[in-house]
Amino acid sequence: MRVLVIGSGGREHALVWKIAQSKLVDKLFCAPGNGGISQQAECIDIKADDMPALIEFARKEKIDFTIVGPEAPLSAGIVDEFKNYNLKIFGPDKKAAQLEASKVFAKELMAKYKVPTADFKIFQDSREAKKYIEKIGAPCVVKADGLAQGKGVVVAKTVDEAKQAVTSIMEEKVFGAAGDKVIVEECLEGQEASILVITDAKEVIALASSQDHKRIFDQDKGPNTGGMGAYSPAPVVTPELFKDILDKVIYRTMDGLVREGIGYKGVLYAGIMITRDGPKTLEFNVRFGDPETQAIIPRLKSDLLEVMLAATEEKLSRVKLVWDSRACVCVVCASGGYPDKYGKGKEISGLNEAAKMKDVVVFHAGTTKSAAKYFTNGGRVLGVTGLGDTIKAAIDNTYQAVEKINFERIHYRKDIGRKAI
Ligand code: AMP
Repeated sequence: MRVLVIGSGGREHALVWKIAQSKLVDKLFCAPGNGGISQQAECIDIKADDMPALIEFARKEKIDFTIVGPEAPLSAGIVDEFKNYNLKIFGPDKKAAQLEASKVFAKELMAKYKVPTADFKIFQDSREAKKYIEKIGAPCVVKADGLAQGKGVVVAKTVDEAKQAVTSIMEEKVFGAAGDKVIVEECLEGQEASILVITDAKEVIALASSQDHKRIFDQDKGPNTGGMGAYSPAPVVTPELFKDILDKVIYRTMDGLVREGIGYKGVLYAGIMITRDGPKTLEFNVRFGDPETQAIIPRLKSDLLEVMLAATEEKLSRVKLVWDSRACVCVVCASGGYPDKYGKGKEISGLNEAAKMKDVVVFHAGTTKSAAKYFTNGGRVLGVTGLGDTIKAAIDNTYQAVEKINFERIHYRKDIGRKAI
């Protein structure tokens, strides 16, 4: 098969790395890919949101199957467009992708089908939102309705902070039309976990549990980032809790979507807060998580491409996943200054030494390759990933690999996975 993966981050490198191992693959492309991805796939200079160019490429190159990494093309309807040209593609269509593209859509669906989530109210008028914030007090959470590159959620400790969030989202329009509506919701407390499933709109197959680390500094300090590391499994998700999350969150959501006339195919990611009252849904994503994918995929023994094909062809009932029982940890190496301003073009050393280590794989997120050398090209640069018999062993293995790698102003958290011990 000729396969195309769309995207350029660490998540896409993990997908490409895994799919390259499939017996079904004859030729693998990635658009646009990155320095590390070029080890396993031919990188094509087309941006992930350039739909006409992607379609033209898929037709010209006779691509048999396309896999979409990021949310933006899914929300823009890339699956619908590819289908119009009879091109087989893995992911939810535009209607189904609303689950991530509109938090209002997701919350209304959850309320209607009794999927546990934080109590909330939706506002189209900023004055009304602020009045409501004064009434419920702090802490509370303010969320922009639409896609805001992971920055549209403010967990406010004070009433002023929450009102300020409403001002910037709804009045100053810092995220544009994504801030036409806001959700003000109850602040939940507990541990977070990510549950990802693959579905063909009828069957659901759960992937291994995981947990990510959103803040830039150790002990969850500093600003939010795209994710500084992850581990799998998440011991906080006991087998009973896993079943509870599948029953109350995943199956109820899938059932609700079907009742609304929406057939969801692809990966569904539920961000869960494990509260004293049980699991509650924080958000849905309509694609693989980043960096959760980097911690989950190395544990998957089954052929991921086969599973994705089965989901697309509504044959998921025939599939069973086999997992490596070992733990996996991914530590993100970032450019100093990220998530604010950071430099690019710094040479990365130690990648060969790290690659020689047993049960270690280095996924590239923001890199370029030039004359057999790798250079930094983004905020998150690498996802150094290691397996171990226990979480502790996986942490030790991963950090030994991290220590071999260097570039100017490298920054990584020293406590990834420690929560799980
Ligand atoms: P979301 O994009 O909705 O997942 O929000 C991003 C992050 O904000 C989550 O991973 C949580 O850490 C936090 N968050 C979102 N909603 C709530 C809530 N209702 N209570 C507490 N924290 C929240």
